[in-house]
Amino acid sequence: MSDCIFCDIINKESPADVVYEDNKFIVFKDIKPSAPVHLLLVPKEHIPSINYLTEEHKEMMGELILLAKKIAKEQGIEEGYKLAFNTGRKGGQLVDHIHLHLMGGWE
Ligand code: 5GP
Ligand code: ZN
Repeated sequence: MSDCIFCDIINKESPADVVYEDNKFIVFKDIKPSAPVHLLLVPKEHIPSINYLTEEHKEMMGELILLAKKIAKEQGIEEGYKLAFNTGRKGGQLVDHIHLHLMGGWE
């Protein structure tokens, strides 16, 4: 176990309801969903937040947005969804491992 819950999920040391995984990303259901579909898209590299991104992350972050589009379609919510990066405590970030919220499924 590490001191990062998302690293523990990535390393299979903590359980999660995983809907997608490849060598760079893991996608799992938010444990406390605030939408009918609420997934967390998580780069496997431990980057604490948007504020820690550098030029070397440009390609990976583009891939993350394209993955969000793909997962939204797979989840049947491509008609409308929200993507959010909470950043810093004052921005509502509670887990210090960068993640993209994908929320949708409202009627
Ligand atoms: P943040 O507020 O940092 O942007 O979002 C963290 C999100 O992670 C929250 O929506 C919270 O419900 C979710 N979360 C926190 N701990 C866990 C966990 O152990 N498992 C899962 N699946 N989600 C978690
Ligand atoms: Zn981490």
